[in-house]
Amino acid sequence: MVKTKEVKQQQQEMSVFHQLAAHNHEKVVFCHDHDTGLKAIIAVHSTVLGPALGGTRMWAYASEAEALEDVLRLSRGMTYKAAIAGLNLGGGKAVIIGDAAKDKSEALFRKFGRFIKNLNGSFVTAEDIGTTSKDMEYIRMETEYVAGKPETMGGGGDPSPVIAYGTYMGMKAAAKKAFGSDSLDGKKIAVQGVGSAGAYLVELLAKENTKVFITDIYADRLREVSSKYGSQVVGMDDIYDLEVDIYAPCGLGGTINDITIDRLRCTVIAGSANNQLRDETVHGNALLRRGICYAPDFLINSGGLINVYAELVGYNRERAYAQAERIYGYTLDLLDKAEEDDMSTHEAAVKMAEKRIANISKVRSTY
Ligand code: NAD
Repeated sequence: MVKTKEVKQQQQEMSVFHQLAAHNHEKVVFCHDHDTGLKAIIAVHSTVLGPALGGTRMWAYASEAEALEDVLRLSRGMTYKAAIAGLNLGGGKAVIIGDAAKDKSEALFRKFGRFIKNLNGSFVTAEDIGTTSKDMEYIRMETEYVAGKPETMGGGGDPSPVIAYGTYMGMKAAAKKAFGSDSLDGKKIAVQGVGSAGAYLVELLAKENTKVFITDIYADRLREVSSKYGSQVVGMDDIYDLEVDIYAPCGLGGTINDITIDRLRCTVIAGSANNQLRDETVHGNALLRRGICYAPDFLINSGGLINVYAELVGYNRERAYAQAERIYGYTLDLLDKAEEDDMSTHEAAVKMAEKRIANISKVRSTY
């Protein structure tokens, strides 16, 4: 059968090597084990700065193509997050294809640990959506290349306070840029999602005489946080229309999109959620045009990665906080650079991460 030009092009675009080449991934490992039912993909995007670190996500993907796309996208994001946070880590990610509620077993995670072991330290994993510290303990039985261990095993424990602290630092830097002072005294701040990281952020904000508005899916969570810190509860959809100084997305990603962007009445956006821009280019530029100072999510929420990194070099909580504090300076530099180059802060952050990777790769060219 003669293949048409379009079919040939489609096949080429779907080929694994074509997808790896698109964003310069170093390697992808497909892991399969009949006995345990393990089907996993490990993607190592870059090891220029150090071992590729990234969580293992367990998800019932609709197709293998979807799982591959996710792992490639997420591993690349980890490279930028580590680079911009000044860490000596590369970017990686793993996905296990399966239902986290039904398909888990000790043997499955230990077999997966064997695959990680075979990568000889070029990939280090941790928890992610669908995996828990218990699963990490099973992986740990087969390989040392696991972070995010419980405190009882020399791990850093709950990363949320460090994530919140880094986010708070990024928020203060953005406030300095937008309002001329990093004091949040008297500022009105809308926090969307008061889960682990969001609640710790509200605690920090409450110490600075701020007026905090909160929203969440869970009413009991809202009651708990509002009674503890005196914040005002608002409806889930009302948060976008509030006249506030700062909007802090700390729930799910994608909340800055075509529908919400024109409703926002804030001067600064700074929150802990991942992937806040539904479309990084379109919505990053839309914020630039609207004059909203956006502190890029992957920079200011890097406290989670910082906490894991601290574990790799011998965990020390104070050191993790000290590293998270540097997010203030990084954010300020970045916001200045974006203004100077008249580009979206997201784009400037990606460029800054790429520049660090390029510079360090030159340093490492000498034996
Ligand atoms: P979490 O699940 O403890 O809290 C998220 C909260 O947001 C929940 O209470 C949820 O009900 C609420 N929520 C979700 N969608 C919402 C919406 N549309 N409106 C209002 N509330 C909503 O999660 P977390 O650990 O606090 O993480 C929060 C965010 O930070 C996530 O986007 C996560 O990806 C990101 N993040 C987490 C880490 C980490 O290591 N845990 C690191 C960096 C970034």
